[in-house]
This record gives sequence, structure tokens and C-alpha cells, in this order.
Amino acid sequence: MPATVIHASRILTPEEEINDGVIVVEDSRIAALGHRDEVRVPAGAIDYVAAGMTVVPGFVDLHIHGAGGHDVMEANARALDRITSTVARHGTTSIVATTVTAPIEDTCHTLEGIARYIRSRENPEEPPKPGRVAAEILGIHLEGPFISPARRGVHPVESIVKPSVEILDRLLKASDGFVRILTIAPEMPGAMDVIRAAVAAKVTVGLGHTDANYDQARAAIQAGARHAVHIYNAMRPFTHRDPGIVGAIMTDPEISAEVIADGVHVAGPAIQVLIGTKGFDTVLLVSDGIAATGMRDGNYRLGNFEVNVRNGICRNAEGKLAGSTLTLDRALRNIVELGVPLRDAVRMATVLPARRLGLAGKKGIIAVGADADLVALTDDLRVAGVMTGGVGLAAQS
Ligand SMILES: [Zn+2]
Repeated sequence: MPATVIHASRILTPEEEINDGVIVVEDSRIAALGHRDEVRVPAGAIDYVAAGMTVVPGFVDLHIHGAGGHDVMEANARALDRITSTVARHGTTSIVATTVTAPIEDTCHTLEGIARYIRSRENPEEPPKPGRVAAEILGIHLEGPFISPARRGVHPVESIVKPSVEILDRLLKASDGFVRILTIAPEMPGAMDVIRAAVAAKVTVGLGHTDANYDQARAAIQAGARHAVHIYNAMRPFTHRDPGIVGAIMTDPEISAEVIADGVHVAGPAIQVLIGTKGFDTVLLVSDGIAATGMRDGNYRLGNFEVNVRNGICRNAEGKLAGSTLTLDRALRNIVELGVPLRDAVRMATVLPARRLGLAGKKGIIAVGADADLVALTDDLRVAGVMTGGVGLAAQS
């Protein structure tokens, strides 16, 4: 395959800003980058000129349930193909496929299906369709079943189970080792043992759907929890006498916090407070997107239940928020509108989530040796072109 050379007015790696930059892509990886005068361009390369544009790494979404009319819990190739190609149009080039609470049998079935899909991409029996631009599934985020009934949001109460190392082992086994993140409510009996077992299995423990007070959250952090799942939402709220889990997350610089910046789940000033206390290094943009993402309003499935979507806002039959139709390009624009500098906003959607997964240097960054997952953004931060694993950009420019 000939090399692709991308010429951009600006590159945000995002740790560095390069003006009049060039990125050389060879065999799905980044082979060289720098100012146009510094980079030797290979002969016979295909050029992509992103004049007036900013090229950033593809977005990494740690929390997404579906898109394009499909839910990850369908767990078949058709659904997962559709989800990954839909989000790629919005600049998301890596996802952690997120389950919702469901009966253990159903969840195991889902995990087996997603694992099979990931394996089939690693060793395709037939080569992927040429020119197919689609996000890579980096693993699985188990949102439930070890959550608090008191903060369950729309997760079905009858499928919530008490944290159990035995059940965790079953789930990890069904996933063939692809579980990357576990959402858990640390105040539930048995949760501490599950947190320790998950950490030992190299799973990132995220605190979420929880009514934990400050001390319970601190104990979970001590046990190895390092992540918070859609902070503010489905969580005991912060107050000045009872700072709760939100207070524990905000005051610990090691804990990353997902935020759903769709303008509906969290008010803008609350995001500003979050960034004000945590700084730019631990706030991560997630979509919490469901099947309705990229589709018109109507009724959609989320896991095993139905969600109604009106004006892009998803609610269950009781009117509770049920995920979103947010895409990370829109989250980026929203966060920039709140006053976050573009480079920091890009970091929140790229290098920081990649780092949380232990994929620094490979995903979410424009660096020599990293996967060639790239997004060309216009001045008003619209997606003008996307490349996944060295494929794309030109077709969508
Ligand atoms: Zn979710």
C-alpha cells in the first residue's frame, strides 16, 4: 500500500501544536510527522491536503452503548459494524463497547459475541472491505450489574446483583479477557472484594451508579478504583456538609472522571466547576450514546428495554434520562464553548482516555508508531475527514 501524506495547516498531537505540518502514514501507523520542511515525504505517496484545517487524533470513547440503530448488546457483526462506522463519521476511532445491566446469562452471551467480533478483526478470515472507515472496539465496559438500586438510573432493578467475585470471574471469562472497565457502586456489600479482584485482573474500576458517601468512595480509591463513570449523573450529589463520592473524585488528582457534555446531562457551570477542581488532566469526554445516535427521533432499544427519543434526548417510560445521542465531535464543540482551550478539549477526548486504558503511545495521539487514527476538523470544529487504521480521509474530504 502506498504511503499517505497528510498536509495540515495545524496539527494538535495534542501534546504539541505543529503549524504547516505533515503526517506520513504507512501500513496503518504513523511513520513520520513534523513541520513540512522537516519531514521527508516518500516517493509515490498519496497526498491529502487539509488546507485551513486542524488535524487531531481520533476520539476515544470509553462509554458508548450503540449508534446507527443498533445496541452493542446485540453483539453480532452486523450491529457492531454499523455502530463502529456510524461513530467514525463523527471522529470517534476507538470505543469501549458498553453493556447495561441485564440478566447474567444475557450479559455473558453479549460478552462472547463482542469478544468474537474483536478477535475476528484481529485475524480477519476475509480482509476488511477496502476503504471501510470504522472505529476499533478496544474492549468492553461493564456498566452493571454491581450497581446501587438507589442510583440505578434506567438500569433494570431486577437484574442488579450483589457484587460477587464469582460472578465477576464468569463475566471476565465470557469476555475472553476483553473487559477493560467495570462500573461498580462501592458501598454495596461485597464491592471491595470485587474491586480488588478487578484491579488484579487489570480491569479499570470505575465508580458509578452509586450512592457512596465520601468515606466509602475513599475506601474504593484505596482499593484501586481510578475512574468515575459519568460524574454527577446517577451519583449521590455533592453538598457542602456531605461532599459524597463527587467530593472524593474532585479532590483526588489520580481519578479520571467521565462527563457527558451534551448540555442535557450536566449543566455547563457544573462542568466548569469539575474542570476547575480537577484541572484539564483527568476530565474525559464520553458520549454514553445509545442506538438512536445518528438516527431520527423514535423508539429504540437500550440493552433489554425501550427508550423514547425526542429532540435527540433519550428517556425511558418513567421519563428518566437513558443515555444520549451525543457524539464526541459535538462534545468537543460544547466544551470549547464553555471556555476550555481547544488543545485541552482535544486531550479530553483522545490522549487522556487512551492513557486510562493503558494505551498511551498507541491510541489518542499523533506520534511516530501510533495507530493512524486521525480527524480533520474545520475552523468551527466540524469533522471534515476521518482516518481509521490508515484508511480513509480522502474519501470523506
Ligand atoms: Zn451508560
